[in-house]
Amino acid sequence: MCGELRAADAGQPVVVMGWVNRRRDHGNLIFLDLRDRSGICQVVLDKELTPEGHARGEQVRPEYVVAAVGRVRLRAQDAINPKMDTGEVEIEATELRVLNDARLAPFSPADEAIQNEEVRLRYRYVDLRRAEMQRNFRLRHDLTQAIRESLSAQGFLEIETPILTKSTPEGARDFLVPSRVHPGEFYALPQSPQIFKQILMISGFDRYFQIARCFRDEDQRADRQLEFTQVDLEMSFPQREHVFAVVEQFLVAAFAAAGIALPTPFPRITYDDSLRQFGSDKPDLRLPGLTDVRAAFPDEALATLLVDPALPVVAFRIPAVGELSRKEREENHPLFDKQKGAKFIDDFKRLAKSFPESAAKVRELCGAAEADFVIIVAGDPAHHIKASDTKFPGRLSEREINVYAAAGNFRTELTKKYAERHGAFRATEQVVTNARGVGAGHTIDGAAAFHPIWIIDFPMFEFDVQSGKWVPAHHPFTAPYDADMANLVSDPASVRANCYDLAMNGLELGSGSIRIHRKDVQQVIFQSLGISDEEARKRFGFFLDALEYGTPPHGGIALGLDRIAMLLAGAPNMREVVAFPKTAKALDLMADAPTTVMEQQLRELHLRVMTKS
Ligand code: ASP
Repeated sequence: MCGELRAADAGQPVVVMGWVNRRRDHGNLIFLDLRDRSGICQVVLDKELTPEGHARGEQVRPEYVVAAVGRVRLRAQDAINPKMDTGEVEIEATELRVLNDARLAPFSPADEAIQNEEVRLRYRYVDLRRAEMQRNFRLRHDLTQAIRESLSAQGFLEIETPILTKSTPEGARDFLVPSRVHPGEFYALPQSPQIFKQILMISGFDRYFQIARCFRDEDQRADRQLEFTQVDLEMSFPQREHVFAVVEQFLVAAFAAAGIALPTPFPRITYDDSLRQFGSDKPDLRLPGLTDVRAAFPDEALATLLVDPALPVVAFRIPAVGELSRKEREENHPLFDKQKGAKFIDDFKRLAKSFPESAAKVRELCGAAEADFVIIVAGDPAHHIKASDTKFPGRLSEREINVYAAAGNFRTELTKKYAERHGAFRATEQVVTNARGVGAGHTIDGAAAFHPIWIIDFPMFEFDVQSGKWVPAHHPFTAPYDADMANLVSDPASVRANCYDLAMNGLELGSGSIRIHRKDVQQVIFQSLGISDEEARKRFGFFLDALEYGTPPHGGIALGLDRIAMLLAGAPNMREVVAFPKTAKALDLMADAPTTVMEQQLRELHLRVMTKS
């Protein structure tokens, strides 16, 4: 391969094939940088040695596909290129064959950064030739294999589940596929293999996994695509601890495949604490969290500041940002989510004028250094949003959650914006970069760079003010804690779910739960969720039936493989680790999908398209 040639190969006859990365014409000598998956090497076409090869070399252009036959030789001392892995050698060609020509693409894979992503996606085959993309997909392959091997070694069987199936309740919109054979009936693409993997447990497979494609018709984001890949697993007779151990083991293997040592066990935090401390259920632990600063304000101060005294008053600091001008602060204001019924105070000078003690106390409670930028977030009594005031003992009210979440979102946005100043993400970038250089089988310490954390003790239900009903916080197959089971009907607010999320560096990597394995309990849950017997029968009848034929206790989890790849590639968005992704507008620019179809196809599917008038 082109990228593998070294000084020790000097004298060896070689045939290399690949794409012309660059071409330099020095008259009697033509230099081709030839690229294949492994890297680049220099081919020299000397008119005296190979007049024919040289003549062909004059014709070739970037991205032509060629084969060069020749011998490896050491470069002259002054021609050594220390920037190239193969920089000590070159190929003295005796023959050049042009295997194919190439049209000029709008950019070259030899370019480092290409600004226009649409062009990259349209010419994805050219884009994927770039070294960075080749590296990303090599990485994705390596970590996928490591996960497969780890799970297989842990006794899991890889079993495929259908793509054409029935709706699965993950809370997103389904993609539907019309049936030609059954007019007016539809398959749904799976939002996850959830029901099937549970049935596989009923089927006695004990431990199942799948690198599974899931489809959810949702708005696209940097970390979300219409179709994405889960490392999906399920096991019989587990405690939560067993699921955690399995996941930690395969993630350690995946990170090791990327050259990074991930310490275990992962820490844990309850859902409530995660909200109180970070304003999020996917906390990024690389920066300081939220601090409760209610105690810094006497009641009169809160009244003057028009702050709701019954709701949390929290503050967070972004290290080393320095003092911001009024203009700079105002530019940040759109990053605050006003829909949450919360407000913020970011003008400390002004606060200090009216309430010097409170201002000083807030900074002290946050542990803020001189250069740290501090923001207070609190409930806004004047801003009435559709949230419930209902306070159930022992749990956070919806309004409290909203204030924490507003603070948490603002913190996330500002930490992204001021990344250069606080530098807290640099350790991650550094470790990702350094890990690329470690040889196979070696790792560098990832403890300062990657911060996995289990989120546990989620509430089982959320209260929907509009309908006055309890709705599931997760999918409806999640089991409540045994101890809370007695309160299912009498006190739904107090019921906690035996489910868990895994977060890392501010990304939700996955979620799972111990499942309900008894039909009577499943029915009570459906009832408490307002799903009628009839509806339950229609949607999940087959599953309810299966539950009656000897169902073992079981539980599992699914992790987003694309997100793991994104983290390990140091990629800013998922499209960098998905070979053929869709744009934010849900388009496949290369294949030009979606498109209209022929009238005949519609007829076969018993469909008619209504165009918007
Ligand atoms: N099916 C769930 C999801 O996609 C994961 C699980 O509960 O195992 O989030």
